[in-house]
Amino acid sequence: MFKKKKISVVFGTRPEAIKLAPVIRALRAEADLYSVEVVSTGQHDVMLEQMLRFFKLEVDHQLNLMDSQFGLGGLVGDGVREISKILSRAQPDLVLVQGDTASAFSAALAGFLERIPVAHVEAGLRTNDLAQPFPEEGMRQLVDRISSMYFAATSQNRQNLISEGLSAEQITVTGNTGIDALRIALEQELEVPSRLKEFFGRAERRILLTAHRRENLGDGLVSICQAVLDICRQSPETSVLFPVHLNPEVRNTVYGILDDHSQVFLSEPLEYGHLCWVLQNVDLVLTDSGGIQEEAPSLGKPVLVLREKTERQEGVEAGCAKLVGCQRELISQSVLDLFNCEKLYQEMAEVRNPYGDGYASSRIVEVITRKLFPEISEPLRANS
Ligand code: UDP
Repeated sequence: MFKKKKISVVFGTRPEAIKLAPVIRALRAEADLYSVEVVSTGQHDVMLEQMLRFFKLEVDHQLNLMDSQFGLGGLVGDGVREISKILSRAQPDLVLVQGDTASAFSAALAGFLERIPVAHVEAGLRTNDLAQPFPEEGMRQLVDRISSMYFAATSQNRQNLISEGLSAEQITVTGNTGIDALRIALEQELEVPSRLKEFFGRAERRILLTAHRRENLGDGLVSICQAVLDICRQSPETSVLFPVHLNPEVRNTVYGILDDHSQVFLSEPLEYGHLCWVLQNVDLVLTDSGGIQEEAPSLGKPVLVLREKTERQEGVEAGCAKLVGCQRELISQSVLDLFNCEKLYQEMAEVRNPYGDGYASSRIVEVITRKLFPEISEPLRANS
């Protein structure tokens, strides 16, 4: 028998929970090897709650960092202090974080300061512009500086890390665990609210729109909403579903411009299973989200990216995503071009998703096991 290793997994937002749920599940399946402790910072509350329910994830330590009065700085400061307390008591063998949020950075820094190795899932994404996306680009660069195990979603991400001086042995290309989550969700019977089905039932052309990035708030978001009005005017058979993020700044702008439009459905943030159903049933996706840029091409849905720069360049290079930024004319013209030209549409829809095959989590667990249990790594490798 081996002495079990303890792994602390820390997350705080919706996308982290989605992308870590399959890894937690895969680690917990190795119950003889690992005891897994899940820490939630509470950075998102309602949206995170939905994810935990969907993936039946139990949290061992619930923090309440959302309440910080001092913005991102307060969140990171409180996060490092509170997560350090948990780690110093638990003394895990590894801290696992994902992505580029204030929660991920706080947990990585707490692990680093406690001298506990940190593993970074979805390491190596880069725009190399600290302002876009803000603060995510800075957060992920900082996490990568202080981690010691790197799980890169693509070979481009691995290359980014190597060119920053990290050693190739520390990096494994696994695919993105978000595609694992999507696979797990689509294996289930997805029940969706009837009003969603009705809304889509009426339309000939269906668009999913999400927009909430900090750098798009203000003028950018106004221009995105105006583009939606233009699209609806020029294409009356189009319907747009817009699950509106809970950030009050997003809500004020979006409801101010698009409320009560017969072709636009402004909904609350969708439960993840509902979002997956929607992705299966739309024709086109407009988004500034990172995760949705990865999920949509897995289901053959072209993506127009509402950002000037993306760290998910693979989709743009492969041809399943196109950067359109926040310019009103460019957004509406790009949508209408795709709807009016079947060949153009098919060219984007047929591109294979470059972000993974849905089995990243088992690769991650295999690498962790090789590192934490060198004594059993040979038989494991022989079986793989
Ligand atoms: N998502 C969801 N419901 C929604 C909108 C998004 O479940 O109403 C999921 C989506 O499928 C993706 C993740 O949330 O997996 C993306 O989250 P977000 O856009 O907040 O973060 P990002 O991926 O940009 O970091």
